[in-house]
Amino acid sequence: MHTPSFHPPARVLMGPGPSDVHPRILEALARPTIGHLDPRFVAMMEEVKQLLQYAFQTANPLTFPVSAPGSAGMETCFVNLVEPGEKVVVCRNGVFGGRMVENVARCGGVPVVVDDPWGRPVDPQRLEDTLEAHPDARIVAFVHAETSTGVRSDARTLVDIAHRHDCLTIVDAVTSLGGIELRVDEWGIDAIYSGTQKCLSCVPGLSPVSFGERAVEKIRQRRHKVQSWFLDLNLVMGYWGSGAKRSYHHTAPVNSLYALHEALVLLQEEGLENAWERHWRHHHALREGLAGLGIEYVVDEAHRLPQLNAVRIPDGVDDAAVRRRLLEEYGLEIGAGLGDFAGQVWRIGLMGHAANARNVLLCLSALRAVL
Ligand SMILES: *Cc1c(COP(=O)(O)O)cnc(C)c1O
Repeated sequence: MHTPSFHPPARVLMGPGPSDVHPRILEALARPTIGHLDPRFVAMMEEVKQLLQYAFQTANPLTFPVSAPGSAGMETCFVNLVEPGEKVVVCRNGVFGGRMVENVARCGGVPVVVDDPWGRPVDPQRLEDTLEAHPDARIVAFVHAETSTGVRSDARTLVDIAHRHDCLTIVDAVTSLGGIELRVDEWGIDAIYSGTQKCLSCVPGLSPVSFGERAVEKIRQRRHKVQSWFLDLNLVMGYWGSGAKRSYHHTAPVNSLYALHEALVLLQEEGLENAWERHWRHHHALREGLAGLGIEYVVDEAHRLPQLNAVRIPDGVDDAAVRRRLLEEYGLEIGAGLGDFAGQVWRIGLMGHAANARNVLLCLSALRAVL
């Protein structure tokens, strides 16, 4: 048997992630692998930490990329912060909030769910009422940018409410980091996780996380051992933490980290605020074009994500056939609906490097031709 090398086809990625990877990032990925304890690699990782602090707008010393995708960042937050028997309020308005509930339960925590309808942001009043009813809750968790529905929740307000009720906060910023305004320190977020393959336009497989002082204190004072050896921050801190000896914990994904470094250098070159503005600008252009095709948004204008455009599939249109033709004839990937929205909604991503004028035009003209 002779299996040839794999060469992926040329695609434009306008789905819910991964997004188009910038050529400079792909080039960084191909640089020679060096040892993960090599002093030059360790120095680069110091830069990754500083660049991530900039991206998250935080001074948290415990800011680093978990060596696994966004879902592992989610688990890192929950397994380290939730102790058995603790009450955790989870706001659920889509798929990813549902996964948070599952995480709490698997940590032996007691989830208290605040449900909001799909396509709506988390209702601050409902969170407030739930915390009044559960004064023993210790943590509040929510998704900033719900990729399953294209909704942006008001992170700052939700964090304020949680703090007034003496709760720590866990925030999912997988789709928000680098795409929309996010200020970890100013908003007081205690624990946050993200992903590399959405608005950072990097390859999938890493999860930037950041933990504030109060979260670190809670982790240090745990009564039970963290159930996951790999994700136990008490151990990981010896590797990434400030003043850490960089003793061996696991082998860092060296080349992927070159890629993340390059992605963050690109973000720094552009400027964080400029990147947020660029996502809005191309979202507005896409929105105008879709309106011309008679395609409507699922989410109210006030709560839309510029980087994830959830739109209704027009009546009588064959969802799968359209997406297949976009892929085969135009090399264009858009996302299908997830969960409650399957078959009803398309999710058009404008994430990171993919948020550009050429992609907007390609998407609009390809949709027009296929419909
Ligand atoms: C994509 C995504 C995740 C999971 O990230 P993976 O890298 O796929 O594991 C979690 N939360 C949200 C909001 C996401 O969009």
